[in-house]
Amino acid sequence: MKFPNLATFLILLIGLFMLSSCNQRTRDLSPGPMPAPAAKPIQHPRNIILMIGDGMGLTQISAGLYANNNQLNLEKFPVIGLHKSYASNNLITDSAAGATAFSAGVKTYNGAIGVDKDSMPVPTILEDAIKQGLRAGLVSTSSITHATPASFIAHAKTRRAMEDIASDFLQTPVDIFIGGGMKYFANREDGRDLTKELASKGYVINDYTKKEITDVTLQFRKRFGYFTSDSEPLPVAQGRNYLVPAAKMATVFLQNIDQDNKGFFLMIEGSQIDWGGHAKDSDYIITEMIDFDKAIGAVLDFAREDGETLVIVTADHETGGYAIMPGSRMGRIEGAFTTDYHTAALIPVFAFGPGAELFAGIYENTAIYTKMRTAFGW
Ligand code: MG
Ligand code: ZN
Repeated sequence: MKFPNLATFLILLIGLFMLSSCNQRTRDLSPGPMPAPAAKPIQHPRNIILMIGDGMGLTQISAGLYANNNQLNLEKFPVIGLHKSYASNNLITDSAAGATAFSAGVKTYNGAIGVDKDSMPVPTILEDAIKQGLRAGLVSTSSITHATPASFIAHAKTRRAMEDIASDFLQTPVDIFIGGGMKYFANREDGRDLTKELASKGYVINDYTKKEITDVTLQFRKRFGYFTSDSEPLPVAQGRNYLVPAAKMATVFLQNIDQDNKGFFLMIEGSQIDWGGHAKDSDYIITEMIDFDKAIGAVLDFAREDGETLVIVTADHETGGYAIMPGSRMGRIEGAFTTDYHTAALIPVFAFGPGAELFAGIYENTAIYTKMRTAFGW
């Protein structure tokens, strides 16, 4: 027989069609999640508090959990996602590119502070918030000019330009900032005293040499800056204990600064989980992780009572290739490290409050920025 009969021909055609539709379906499944069956309109929060545990991968969280009686405030979050942390020029991100992805929604090169991969300044969520009439704050357990907080308020080609980063605090009227690094403001190469310049712009500036943070009386009519150290703050293990009161102070301040409050954006960083990883020091990681988690608990208490606050907790990257080794027990972690630098593992994202559902799934780190904007309704 020279030609197949009609029936055979049809079966072949149908077979080809099914094959191609299978291919189609396989392609459609990746990348990105399947659409939800019936997406409900999201609720918009008035306030967003973004909490960044620098270097806080899943193992850091696990070690903190098991070292702390199998309990963390992180367990209270109803929505969990994962983000892809890589930078534009390196699969292994640093904290500058990592924070700029969150603050401005761009993949950029390692070392970049609030600039894109061509070193051009990009608007940040904190600047967006202020432009929209919202209040804004930054709290950190590193210097306030360090890569993570800097990426929300400054624009610099390199994270090393600490004094340039400090002078950007004069450009963006952040309502409250608490962190270390006073010397980059008060004891500069160019001889300027930015603490005086900030005061002349209406800031109340205070610092650790004058008053404990817990003894400061807030003046809601004025902007507020508090320096917790001259350079980098101490680790928790050496006596630093301001993160929880600073987190509480910032939320109370931003909530009450004016009567027709339109809402606020606040970034709070647990900076030194990362430094524990660089030091390959498991106890350093654990004490910093538990300190950060206490601040998370304080913020969750505020958010639960407020009802209009979206809380997001994540990390810029993992540090140390940290592992919990055989021989570890509940309450006693034997840690090991594969590097003294960062790794490229997917990073967990925890969300609570109106708009939290946006943060489920797997997405780029830059999506944290766009999801926050969507949550705000921008
Ligand atoms: Mg940091
Ligand atoms: Zn680091």
